[in-house]
Amino acid sequence: MFCPFCNEQETKVIDSRLVADGHQVRRRRECIACHERFTTFEAAELVMPRVVKRDGSREPFNEDKLRAGLQRALEKRPVDTERVEQCINRIKSSLRATGEREVGSEFVGNLIMDNLKEIDKVAYVRFASVYRSFEDIREFGEEIAKLGD
Ligand SMILES: [Zn+2]
Repeated sequence: MFCPFCNEQETKVIDSRLVADGHQVRRRRECIACHERFTTFEAAELVMPRVVKRDGSREPFNEDKLRAGLQRALEKRPVDTERVEQCINRIKSSLRATGEREVGSEFVGNLIMDNLKEIDKVAYVRFASVYRSFEDIREFGEEIAKLGD
């Protein structure tokens, strides 16, 4: 980038360190021409993939909708808000980590179910019964049986 003082194009990095828990790189730069120093911050651009619904339409990932869905499944369950937020963050990280521009709604649904299974099995079954169209009642029973313990 150009030197903000003299617009020289050449700058050299004199210090580089991770900040914001490793999510940003802070660089101290010095202009080759005027020797002024300035700081830049770089962060990876992490874009949420868009969600492709079953009918083929696309919609932006909607965090509020996810939260509402989780809260519905977790209604009257002994799970605190903090854990719900952690769950949302994990789901978002997994979505970003795909590196895809678009993901299927089933992929998102499975991700949610996997995470719910970890935090509350009743909520998982509630969510799964609504979200996944079980072929028949037997398949649903098997899914519940798998939860075991
Ligand atoms: Zn300069």
